[in-house]
Amino acid sequence: LRRSGPTLLGDDMNVSFEFFPPRSGDMESQLWESVMRLAPFGPDFVSVTYGAGGTTRQPTLATVKRLLAETDLAPAAHLTCVNASKDDVDAVAREFWEAGVRHFVALRGDSPDGIGSAYRPHKDGYRNAAELVAGLKAFADFEITVSAYPEKHPESPDFMTDIDMLKRKVDNGATRAITQFFFDNDSYERYVERVRRAGIYVPIVPGILPVHNFSQVAKFADLCGASIPDWLATRFEGLEQDPQTRSLVAAAVAADQVMDLVERGVQDFHFYTMNRAQLVYAICHLLGLRAPKGNGTVTTATAA
Ligand code: FAD
Repeated sequence: LRRSGPTLLGDDMNVSFEFFPPRSGDMESQLWESVMRLAPFGPDFVSVTYGAGGTTRQPTLATVKRLLAETDLAPAAHLTCVNASKDDVDAVAREFWEAGVRHFVALRGDSPDGIGSAYRPHKDGYRNAAELVAGLKAFADFEITVSAYPEKHPESPDFMTDIDMLKRKVDNGATRAITQFFFDNDSYERYVERVRRAGIYVPIVPGILPVHNFSQVAKFADLCGASIPDWLATRFEGLEQDPQTRSLVAAAVAADQVMDLVERGVQDFHFYTMNRAQLVYAICHLLGLRAPKGNGTVTTATAA
């Protein structure tokens, strides 16, 4: 971490947190502990993922409903069009709208045969996220966030095709994109330059993944086209049986990445929390956010 790092910004920072719906009672407790620990940072929104193949429609809805009932956080529900006709998507949109959801993270999703298998749209469904965005916007005036891929999506033959899809999503009504996780900030910066040159001006919010388990992240990165720099592998080398040191290294890696992005002018961050608060809490603290005891609002650090 740079000793003479950027002045901490606090007030100018916008953060959002991503959670996944729990699959057991224990996971439910872990999720809510994490939500309550991070809530005082005053995130712009908290998002709840949608299981591969639409498998978590009810758990996603239940989690979002609980967020609405028990917190003052603004939830965003992820939604995919995998295995769904346009009517199915409308039915989901209606259910979420009636529950009070006004913000979707709209995604095409992956083939039910697994990431990397050829995607086949439902015969009466949306073919990609751009069509889904248009469908949701036609249904109601939802706020729509979409995905972006600093190292391009593995199915995109080149960056032009990839960014063209992002443009279609924005043209159809998306007002923010969150990136796939990445570890090379240069690739993010180059991507944002390309996106701006293509005439896309919505925020491209970096998705930050704290590395709780390096080998899992490496496997997942391989599937979704994110690269793992050699230096990252080296930092976690030999720590397979040492979770405590791994966690310290993970905090240092994520803090370094985020503070470098701040130096490059980034003020919005989305955190893939994996339903764990500790690392994300530490990084938000480094960003200058403060969660005071008591009233649950957030203050700003004054010292760099
Ligand atoms: P799109 O935006 O439709 O397409 C992605 C890219 O693929 C495009 O840039 C396009 O160039 C290329 N492409 C698509 N189709 C073609 C084609 N026919 N020919 C050539 N190129 C093509 N998945 C879940 O299941 N649940 C979630 O909750 C979830 N949340 C996510 C949140 C974020 C922030 C991100 C980045 C990803 C998330 N995903 C989730 C993963 C996502 O579903 C996959 O990455 C999926 O493969 C693509 O979905 P998309 O919406 O990005 O697709």
